[in-house]
Amino acid sequence: MKASVGGYARATDLRHALDLLARSGGMGRVLAGGQSLVAAMNMRLSTGDLLVDITRIDGLRGATLNGDRLRIGALTRHAEVGRDPLIATHAPLLGQAVGHIAHAAIRNRGTIGGALAHADPAAEFPACVLALGGTIHIEGPEGAREVAAEDFFIDVFETAIEEGEILTAISLPVAAAGERQVIRETARRSGDYALAGLCLVRRPSGHRVAVFSAGPRPILAKGAAAALDEGKLDDAVAALQDELDPPSDTQASAAYRRHLAGVLLRRAVADIEGETA
Ligand SMILES: Cc1cc2nc3c(=O)[nH]c(=O)nc-3n(C[C@H](O)[C@H](O)[C@H](O)COP(=O)(O)OP(=O)(O)OC[C@H]3O[C@@H](n4cnc5c(N)ncnc54)[C@H](O)[C@@H]3O)c2cc1C
Repeated sequence: MKASVGGYARATDLRHALDLLARSGGMGRVLAGGQSLVAAMNMRLSTGDLLVDITRIDGLRGATLNGDRLRIGALTRHAEVGRDPLIATHAPLLGQAVGHIAHAAIRNRGTIGGALAHADPAAEFPACVLALGGTIHIEGPEGAREVAAEDFFIDVFETAIEEGEILTAISLPVAAAGERQVIRETARRSGDYALAGLCLVRRPSGHRVAVFSAGPRPILAKGAAAALDEGKLDDAVAALQDELDPPSDTQASAAYRRHLAGVLLRRAVADIEGETA
């Protein structure tokens, strides 16, 4: 099926993009890597929109270090996230995640901002940013604002981004000395979306656990993290079971997803402790 497009405009800078969205009468759709949006348009799940192409806005690309914060521009492509030395040093979880996302062709086009804005509950980057305690930077007609990752993901494909706004960057606390970050997932085939996945961050200040593909949005498992802080892995697995309410679908039952999450938590802890599981 051919995509249905109401119009197309390439923005020269962020202000231009915001103007185009403002003048679209609510029909504007930001086009970043197009790896989810174009697929939705081809299936006529999204029609008649004015595509506002932001891909030439160079200021939205790349990673920079600002003191103890790592800032990653929304247009940084998955493949670039995977090979950026600043990201490898200060947020290695993101680089690990790239290896689980789709295939090379998609990783060469898809952007981290697009993945967060799209908010697929099975996607890796939203859970990573949640586990890392990231901040989402948004620009809109009223100016700039920041949303904590914990408040950003609302429901399936739904975020705190309002009409006319653009996600410009993500910022993250840089990894502390001795911090460990691990992502684990189970998929039917390499490159497929996960049946269930888990990010584990162990900081001097405590653990953070985020689970994906186990609910309508990535889930911060605070009970499991608190049990890990006390060194009680079995309790953490039990807490995780209580914190999840996963869906049953053609891919996996809710009970299987819940079970997988516990297995993935044990494996992530073993990874961090340098064992194999
Ligand atoms: C076959 C296939 C397999 C895939 N497998 C995986 C996978 O295993 N894991 C995974 O995480 N992802 C997967 N993806 C999705 C892929 O990672 C996409 O790149 C990503 O979800 C969307 O990024 P994008 O830059 O292509 O965004 P687009 O497709 O351009 O946009 C997606 C949505 O986000 C909005 N948007 C984009 N950028 C912004 C912005 N800066 N501000 C505001 N709104 C914005 C768009 O308007 C649109 O609604 C897969 C995609 C395909 C086609």
